[in-house]
Amino acid sequence: MTLSKWRGRDDVLHAALDRNRIDRETLEALLESMRDSFPSFRSYLKSKAKKLGKEKLPWWDLFAPVGEIDLKYTWKETADYIVEQFNRFSNELGDFARTAFDNRWIDAEPRDGKRGGAFCMGVPGVEESRILANFDGSFDQLTTLAHELGHGFHNYCQKGLPMLRRGAPMTLAETASIFCETIVFNAALETAPENAQLAILENQLMGATQVIVDIYSRYIFESEVIKRREKSELSADEFCEIIIDAQKQTYGDGLDENYLHPYMWLLKPHYYYAEAHFYNYPYAFGLLFGLGMYAVYQREGESFIPRYKELLRNTGEGKVADLAARFDIDVKSVDFWKGSLAIIEDRVNKYIAL
Ligand SMILES: [Zn+2]
Repeated sequence: MTLSKWRGRDDVLHAALDRNRIDRETLEALLESMRDSFPSFRSYLKSKAKKLGKEKLPWWDLFAPVGEIDLKYTWKETADYIVEQFNRFSNELGDFARTAFDNRWIDAEPRDGKRGGAFCMGVPGVEESRILANFDGSFDQLTTLAHELGHGFHNYCQKGLPMLRRGAPMTLAETASIFCETIVFNAALETAPENAQLAILENQLMGATQVIVDIYSRYIFESEVIKRREKSELSADEFCEIIIDAQKQTYGDGLDENYLHPYMWLLKPHYYYAEAHFYNYPYAFGLLFGLGMYAVYQREGESFIPRYKELLRNTGEGKVADLAARFDIDVKSVDFWKGSLAIIEDRVNKYIAL
């Protein structure tokens, strides 16, 4: 807070907005659309409780699995499936994935001593990307690979640019990855048997609830803590009280209010980055911006592809709103964000119906 003042910032949020290259109007539009989507997420949570045979969902069941997925893929099936689905979007994307598989850009097998998870890094010197994954043949790994290949395609779109004009702020870094994940996710959902459909949707909605509902609760928590901290230090009890209140405002009657999580602020490292206040909301921005691109693609079809690639090429430059405006996308309008959330709401409706 003191630093913010010394640096001439309006408030603590100011620096977070600059770092993510967005303005208050854009953030407000994003937050408003998130708030409007809470009823839909709450009906998902209520339906999940019912499917698990409970009256109301306690916090610890947020991550409980629902449905069964016994889809298994060999490495070759995975590669072929991803390339096939990417080709339905554009041959250039399909070819890119094929190149990555054929030239062994992906360290796929789990090994002793190898770190878990997955990531993609660009190797600008040779204009290629490398991906680390832990492939186990699951559906989850299939979408993870699609996600990481999306990052690779983003790098590919920035080929030839000087280093200073490459990259993306945190708000745009997930655009291509979410987009590619959505391509594969939607395709798989169409053909999966019913019980697998339920598990696929559950998995997706579980994640989306974190990124939209939980992230909003973090935003409320962060705002309140900063407001109170101006006056005095806060006790652990106060942190707990603030976070419970934030969870009630966001999860609402979607969760059993007797079993919320008072210590989330203690559990997540995301609350502690001293140099990055309001570290959480860019995740929501990233997911919804990527889905928003997909919504535009669904509306406009193939004619959107050159604009999309050009946008990916330019994510290293300028402010997000200006960049998006060049491609006829208005991130300051609530309607843009609602288009993204409509994709998630559609999944919620499918989930409830199963
Ligand atoms: Zn990613």
